[in-house]
Amino acid sequence: MNLMTKEKRYNTLNAFYRQKFGKKVFKVSLNGNFTCPNKDGKSGYGGCVYCTESGSGDFAGNKNESLKTQFNKVRAMMHEKWSDALYISYFQANTNTYDTEERLRDLFYESISLDKNIVGLSIATRCDALNNEIYDLLEELNDKTYLQIELGLQSIHDETSNFINRAHSLKCFDDAVKELRKRNIDVVVHIINGFHMETKNDMMDTVRHLNKLDIQGIKIHLLHIMKKTKLGKIYLENPFKMLTLDEYKDIVCDQLEILDPNIIVHRLTGDSPRELLIAPLWSLKKLVVMNEIDKELRRRDCYQGNKFKK
Ligand code: SF4
Repeated sequence: MNLMTKEKRYNTLNAFYRQKFGKKVFKVSLNGNFTCPNKDGKSGYGGCVYCTESGSGDFAGNKNESLKTQFNKVRAMMHEKWSDALYISYFQANTNTYDTEERLRDLFYESISLDKNIVGLSIATRCDALNNEIYDLLEELNDKTYLQIELGLQSIHDETSNFINRAHSLKCFDDAVKELRKRNIDVVVHIINGFHMETKNDMMDTVRHLNKLDIQGIKIHLLHIMKKTKLGKIYLENPFKMLTLDEYKDIVCDQLEILDPNIIVHRLTGDSPRELLIAPLWSLKKLVVMNEIDKELRRRDCYQGNKFKK
């Protein structure tokens, strides 16, 4: 799939949705009141070091409200920007397959029937919160609607995984991708750039690894240090080097150049509430970051995948 233009030299999610559905599509973040196996002891305690109180779903709906109420509120807000659009129901906060099959079934079916203009379902989860019963349910849902499963990886490197306290192996992640693809389900992977123990080549290796798997989407994040997180505490006690905007731009453009040109780029930086962010503060200017990346790709006269090797 090639959705690139001279201005946008990578496959944007917006272009992908417009091509697939014929108009603007936005995600409506719903909160299914999940927890996480990395918090309650099933896989680990305490969660990933950067996880916020909301389970890294700071823009999700209010978990105490019904899905319908959450949906209506987010939709109303989004319609201030786009009057005519389609929707994808999005479960983002915590680990959204970490429950019984029965509850997941009820919740997911409800979430795609909240409005006639819902064209898909996006579910963020971890590889250790999937099993055969849940894969079967996801396969069934994939026949009913357009389904995307988002999996957190962040990095392929063990040292980083230990520092993050990710509490699952690379093999667990790889196996989950294979199982989802066997069932023809689209997979979107989250990675993070900027861990202080990683070199640029380490970050490139994470993308090289993803190129070998059959994934359909990627979310590239910048490491954010947030208040009220373990990482925030570590950083304030012992500040470490964070990426500058120039370094980040350079790494992302190098990653895009080697990224499989069939993959859709869902995100190229992070998004965090201003009042919670400790560093890097330049990341608050998201438009500037995006423009710098676009400018750099044009300066290099390169596109996503022009150095891709299978
Ligand atoms: S997997 Fe997600 S929800 Fe669970 S601890 Fe890590 S960041 Fe938080």
